[in-house]
Amino acid sequence: MCARGKNMNNCAIVGINWGDEGKGRMVDLITENYDIVVRYQGGGNAGHTVINDKGKFALHLLPSGIFRSGVINIIGNGVALDPENLQHEIQELQSKGVMVTPDNLKISSRASLLLPWHRDLDELEENRLADRKYGSTKQGIAPFYSDKYQKKTVLAGEIFHPEELRSHLEELLEWKNLTLTRVYGAEPYTMEKLNEWTDLYCGFIKPFICDTEEILETAQEEGKNILFEAQLGALRDLDYGIYPYTTSSNTTAAYAPIGSGLPSLKLSEIIGVVKAYSTCVGEGPFVSEMSGEEADKLREAGSEYGAKTGRARRVGALDLVATKYGVKVQNATKLALTKLDVLSNLDRIPVCVSYTVNGRKTDRFPFPTDLADASPVIEWVKGWNCDISNIRHFEDLPKQARDYVKMIEEAVGCPIAYVSVGAERDSIIIR
Ligand code: GDP
Ligand code: MG
Repeated sequence: MCARGKNMNNCAIVGINWGDEGKGRMVDLITENYDIVVRYQGGGNAGHTVINDKGKFALHLLPSGIFRSGVINIIGNGVALDPENLQHEIQELQSKGVMVTPDNLKISSRASLLLPWHRDLDELEENRLADRKYGSTKQGIAPFYSDKYQKKTVLAGEIFHPEELRSHLEELLEWKNLTLTRVYGAEPYTMEKLNEWTDLYCGFIKPFICDTEEILETAQEEGKNILFEAQLGALRDLDYGIYPYTTSSNTTAAYAPIGSGLPSLKLSEIIGVVKAYSTCVGEGPFVSEMSGEEADKLREAGSEYGAKTGRARRVGALDLVATKYGVKVQNATKLALTKLDVLSNLDRIPVCVSYTVNGRKTDRFPFPTDLADASPVIEWVKGWNCDISNIRHFEDLPKQARDYVKMIEEAVGCPIAYVSVGAERDSIIIR
């Protein structure tokens, strides 16, 4: 019998909404049952907060399985590999006593490098757009992916071929300087500057770079459990999200086989992470957005400030239209509902149950252009008005909280298997 597929569990953890749903927190919890965790898309613009026995961390490029001993963490080929950011992140974790070595962190030799000018171009373009800006985190993600698809960046594995790498970078430098100087009127890069960058940062990440595809193939043959960690959420997916207010990669579970380095992957489980209310960082339509004092109260209660940028997140009512769409796009088999505890001090809780688009009521998530004309249909449900952060069994939750969970399940057509009632690893109700 072919060993491939025996007893193995391939699970993806993905965002259902705009991101910041608590994916890092869920990955950190669930990795207990996994051998390998793979980040398969996105880049250093991610901010995955993890609070566990080792402290409080905001992870950007590193997979959230990095805290569990025995777990192998892989940065897949689909990730925007920023050597500079990664070096800082690894060193920060090491300084807090977290072990990050080539034994527990492996970088795909097929990952493309985010080069120093990508960050500059991100900033130059956002400045050019001024008040029409996308709200980029300015980590160079959009310029990076554009260049990747234009075949104008380098693969991490090229670091093992210094001469070829140098001449490849020389070619890219000549091309990129045309854009920097003639489009944006910015300073050109020099090879000297680029060599400095390569020596400093590429040298640091070199020991972690290897053939991660082989590791994954072997793990698959041995029936190991592999977890696939996504960044952002369904509404930011390049193809299925609110274009152009998306990110520049695919945040969906469907991209895991491509971006991880395991093209034959069949996911056995997809856990979609949903926040008990909505938040959105950056620009773009946000139908259930709240404003004024009510919004400020919710933002404070949920500490809704970006893990990467510190920016105040826009907040709103739980959006069942967007959430149902997110569940469909992610093909989620289970949901994890996070931050239910944050709603504990509300007498009544707003829920966006449908939209009105051009005078018509709909529960189907509209085409991006139509979203600008959508207004929310809000219903209010009763709050529970008591602290639930110490509850660990679903039956012990107040009836109104249980009803809130059941209402979501019913509306989006997917079971909620986890209810998170705090940021700490064990603040979880498993149903
Ligand atoms: P990610 O990008 O999806 O990993 O999510 P972020 O880390 O950006 O944002 C989630 C925030 O909520 C973090 O600050 C977490 O520590 C926090 N968090 C996660 N789950 C819960 C929860 O159930 N309750 C509370 N109060 N905070 C939570
Ligand atoms: Mg985040």
